[in-house]
Amino acid sequence: MISVDEAQQIILNAVKPMPMERIGLDRALGRTLAEPIQSPMDHPPWDASAMDGYAVRCEDLLTASRERPCRLEVVETVLAGQMPQCKIGPGEACRIMTGAPIPAGANAVVMIEATRQVGHGVDVLEPVEMGDDIRYRGEALRLGEKILDPGIRIRPAEIGLLASIGKSLVSVFQRPRVAILATGDELADLDALRGASQIYNSNGHALAAQVEETGGLPMNLGIARDDPEALRQKLRDALNADLIVVAGGVSVGDADRVREVSTALGAEMRLWKVAMKPGHPLAFGLIAGRPMFGLPGNPVSAMVTFEQFVRPSLLRAMGRCDIFRPTLSATLSETLHKKPGRRHFVRAVISWQDGGYAARSTGDQGSGILKSMAAANGLMILPEAVSHIPAGEHVAVQLLSDIPTLTAPLACHL
Ligand code: AMP
Ligand code: MG
Repeated sequence: MISVDEAQQIILNAVKPMPMERIGLDRALGRTLAEPIQSPMDHPPWDASAMDGYAVRCEDLLTASRERPCRLEVVETVLAGQMPQCKIGPGEACRIMTGAPIPAGANAVVMIEATRQVGHGVDVLEPVEMGDDIRYRGEALRLGEKILDPGIRIRPAEIGLLASIGKSLVSVFQRPRVAILATGDELADLDALRGASQIYNSNGHALAAQVEETGGLPMNLGIARDDPEALRQKLRDALNADLIVVAGGVSVGDADRVREVSTALGAEMRLWKVAMKPGHPLAFGLIAGRPMFGLPGNPVSAMVTFEQFVRPSLLRAMGRCDIFRPTLSATLSETLHKKPGRRHFVRAVISWQDGGYAARSTGDQGSGILKSMAAANGLMILPEAVSHIPAGEHVAVQLLSDIPTLTAPLACHL
């Protein structure tokens, strides 16, 4: 049986990047940048004042003090958005507001709080050093400087940075369309009347949400019955997508027909069964050149295998450099036991305690128990070989969100 790491390698090697598209900057939040960005300008474009105050020559103020202020003649006022017209000579100053260009001749700014206005002049109450409160041209960005690499996720700070260089259109990778198909004779749609032998289709919805959270475009194809013809039909519809996720029907049961039907449709199956728990019967192949995942039907297995295999694949297709969830080391609060042989992913709550991270399991780990997935903010990763980990040991925890929410839900105060 192959390991989680081997399975990830096989899968990621089969994933191709999506084409690019150019979109308006204000639609780019969360998208992956597809072009390197260099600054087309110096920023600020000129030496500018960092304070509301007076542009001065520092050599005129060497002896300035509260008791013996230095008086300067104010020759001009420059507001932000204006260009100075005068040159500052000995004994002269220019009243200047934050962001306005420094006039020629001045070499420092003295803030308004260190001055007293007197008629057409100003008394300066303290000396300044050369360059004080000047933002030099190109201090924030230099013309030609590389400022962003392709492959990053565009956050509000990147939007601001791109706007500061006047970039209104930006190249990003297209969002992959992901077909999601739930399989099973026992499944009922949420708004259908649930039969006595039926359960609701939760996988279709959870997986669509995971696709959306990752940045893909979910195409929920609903439910396919465990019948080869029904499966064939739905899988053909799925070929409109860039990537296909089928949940259920990939194990060894009498109704598990997904691998057989996809192979008959020409799919090239690349792997089946991974040494992990939950999620052991994972299948992966290519159908009409598209990556196709057969996830186990148990709701937690489906979500955990999505996290380990589908999410990194989607991010790779979206051109992202960082495709794995952050992992941190936490102190285990309880002793955990497992059978050696498979990597276990234990639903966990990670919290910050006494200067370090602590992790505890969210309770019953049955692969159909979504409640303990909903309570988790991370997955503890218990290595294949170990059979138990004592309380107090360090354990790796994969965060289930890019932004750590490291307090237990009950600790929230609304
Ligand atoms: P399977 O992998 O098809 O053998 O399904 C394994 C278990 O997961 C069975 O108990 C199914 O009833 C359950 N299951 C499969 N698909 C879904 C689904 N879409 N929503 C909720 N439970 C499911
Ligand atoms: Mg089934």
